[in-house]
Amino acid sequence: MTEIFNLDDFLDHFINISPSENAERILRDRYFLKDGEGNYLEHSWEDITRRVSRYIASAEILYTEDIEEIRNVEKKFYKLLKSRVFLPNSPTLFNSGKTLPLEIFKKPLEEMTIEDYKRIYNSRNRHNMLSACFVVPLEDSMEGIFEAVKDAALIQKYGGGVGYDFSVLRPKDSSIAGTGGKSSGPISFMNVFNTTASTIEQGGARRGAQMAVMRYDHPDVIDFINSKKNNDGKSVLNYFNISVNFDNPEEFLKKLENDEEIELSHPNSNIKKTIKARELFDLIANNAWKSGDPGMLFLGRHNKYYALSDVTPVSATNPCGEEPLPPYGSCNLGSIDLAKVVDFVNLGNPDHENNELFKDLIYWCSRFLDDVIDINVYPLEEIDKVSKEQRFIGLGIMGLADALFKKELAYNSEEGRRFMAESTAQFAYYSHLASTELAKERGSFPLFDRSKYKKGFIPFAMLKDDFSENIRKWNELIRKHFFNEAKEFKRNVQVNTVAPTGSISNIADTSSGIEPNFMLAYIRYMTDKEGNRVPLPYMNRILKEKLDGELTSELEAEIIEKGSVQNIEGISEEIKRVFVTAMDISGEDHLMAQHMIQSYLDASCSKTINLPKEATVDDIKNIYKMAMELSLKGITIYRDGSLETQVLTKAKKKDDKKVTFFVLDEKHKLRARPRKDTLKSVTRKYKTGSGTVYITVSFDDNGEAIEIFLSDGTETAEIIGRLSSIALRSGVSADEILEQLSKVKGTYCKGISGEIKKALEDFEDLWKDNEGDIEVFHVGKPLSREEVEKFVHANKLEYTKGYYIDNEGNTYCPTCLSKNSLLMTEGCISCKTCGWSKCS
Ligand SMILES: [Zn+2]
Repeated sequence: MTEIFNLDDFLDHFINISPSENAERILRDRYFLKDGEGNYLEHSWEDITRRVSRYIASAEILYTEDIEEIRNVEKKFYKLLKSRVFLPNSPTLFNSGKTLPLEIFKKPLEEMTIEDYKRIYNSRNRHNMLSACFVVPLEDSMEGIFEAVKDAALIQKYGGGVGYDFSVLRPKDSSIAGTGGKSSGPISFMNVFNTTASTIEQGGARRGAQMAVMRYDHPDVIDFINSKKNNDGKSVLNYFNISVNFDNPEEFLKKLENDEEIELSHPNSNIKKTIKARELFDLIANNAWKSGDPGMLFLGRHNKYYALSDVTPVSATNPCGEEPLPPYGSCNLGSIDLAKVVDFVNLGNPDHENNELFKDLIYWCSRFLDDVIDINVYPLEEIDKVSKEQRFIGLGIMGLADALFKKELAYNSEEGRRFMAESTAQFAYYSHLASTELAKERGSFPLFDRSKYKKGFIPFAMLKDDFSENIRKWNELIRKHFFNEAKEFKRNVQVNTVAPTGSISNIADTSSGIEPNFMLAYIRYMTDKEGNRVPLPYMNRILKEKLDGELTSELEAEIIEKGSVQNIEGISEEIKRVFVTAMDISGEDHLMAQHMIQSYLDASCSKTINLPKEATVDDIKNIYKMAMELSLKGITIYRDGSLETQVLTKAKKKDDKKVTFFVLDEKHKLRARPRKDTLKSVTRKYKTGSGTVYITVSFDDNGEAIEIFLSDGTETAEIIGRLSSIALRSGVSADEILEQLSKVKGTYCKGISGEIKKALEDFEDLWKDNEGDIEVFHVGKPLSREEVEKFVHANKLEYTKGYYIDNEGNTYCPTCLSKNSLLMTEGCISCKTCGWSKCS
């Protein structure tokens, strides 16, 4: 461990390390500001860092008039971001200072005046929305519902995701007083929200993610659980994730054990039903096995650890599930890269001399997020009010898996879990110290006096003291903090969240959030200046260092092929033990990691319990039961391959437009496009020296030759036919194939080539309405919206939950259109080809 003891030296150590090519590619594709015509206004991570740090630091004018102090704060923020030790959520990177003339961000720091900072602060407008997620309340009345539709529409217009609690609405067929009518029920209203989200998306906003929550004892809960089931050939509620809320999971577990009945009822309705606990549980597990939906949520636990639960109980979570929020709550997130910290701090050890550095780092990240609350422009007045009264921030961690690699601890080992628990305890403790420190400087959050902190309240479960000596020490420090100064000072009602970090962890060149690495090596493609597609092989750099000397190009290719080192000969057992991926470990190992970390988080965390394809419904039930027994606040499982297979029953539809496409697979190899069952064709008879050959050339709806069939009973003819067909279906022109055939020695191939040519001409004569427009899509890199729409239309793809599916159940990434390249991690769908992530 290198000897560095203060924050500035630590940040300086990383400040000049440039982002990798992969990170640069993501920045260029998605993060650099562009003008209206698509020209880049920013060209480097440095440009973004300058803009964001100056913009956020200008919020400091609310607390000081001292120009030196504000400049110092800006410099600190600049170093945090430039070093990529800390990164805020994507909307903060996208929207900070957007629409301001960029000159103001180029002015040298020592020339910045108070007026400059004030000008920046006062320039704020609706385009400077910096948080990603919101919760909107529903009311059990027509006016209330449509008010919420309007609120949600506004939030989504500015790119935010929204969560709702649909339990509030009375069940289907309940009487409505005064009208004599019957209620159409929560599911019908979910459809209204779904349509609204799709309409807004067509209006040009980013795709709106939505989360619907319903209590397990609502009379419509069965319909809710089945609401996303795809059994009629149509994708339903495609803009929703759904979660069933079990307020009291311990109680539900008992009912399960005793096979008790559950009463389903609603305060505004006479409708009463019952269901066996086991029946309900089976249904949830069955559906989750098929498609991952619904998830389970334990909001009672959220409220137990939420300091204002008596005032504004949390009613739902944001769409990715990591941030429980009260009505009109919003969250503003940021993550620290533990894989960088671990080089200099002995994480988790309460007695280490470098702890001060980590403590300072957490203070400055917390101050950054606290400033975001003030400078943020909220889409609704009510959200502005709640956000400022409670001052939620979500400081989290990323790079956990890489930190474990560096420490040579396995993610699925006792030691690995101890590291997770102890370092999160340390992280939580310092975060709360920072929030108390900020309160001393700036005042506690306005509702502090009504909060549970006043009475001495610890906002997370903690592990038992006997877990380890270090945990005992951290618990002691934590208790001391909450039973003393936290009773008087707290700046933020909640401080810690582990958010989805898909894109930002790529920018930081570190592993995502608290997830194990998904692949240790892979190939992505980028476009160079001349527009050529260049392969970008990647290998986890810690693994690369460890393999130093032993890494041959064959070995590298094998690791890229498999993504894992587990089944590769010539790799040592020690490396196999440490370098485990998400698919190398068991569901229980995933769950235990979530339990360790959740025990010290006041909010929740983004985590996917990845299960192998062969996992059974019973495996899922066992995982769910464990989640209820441990300290989890919610759970998202994903069975490998279930994104792809869930739509196999979908009805095929008739083609309505002639566009040809070619398909590149996830390894960027060209794939033959599918052949239709019936094709138009021309058959010619050709006499050779040894007999007769029948040559059949088949054409698609665009009049393009896509199949050649030769029959004279010889293997040679069959081989020529098969290979030519696969080439045609992959986009090789017929001319090219004919040219090759005509070069073969002898008369056989020459003759056949001539006949095929005649067949093509024959067909051209027959092909009267020659109108097929032909386009080629190079998938694998982010495409323009227009290109995506064209491809989606041409291939009759359907949108569901953030991605596309075709009628065979294959998935397509919504930004790069790679086929079956999606995976679930951090509770979130991500693309392994381009790095796209639904949540960040
Ligand atoms: Zn992609």
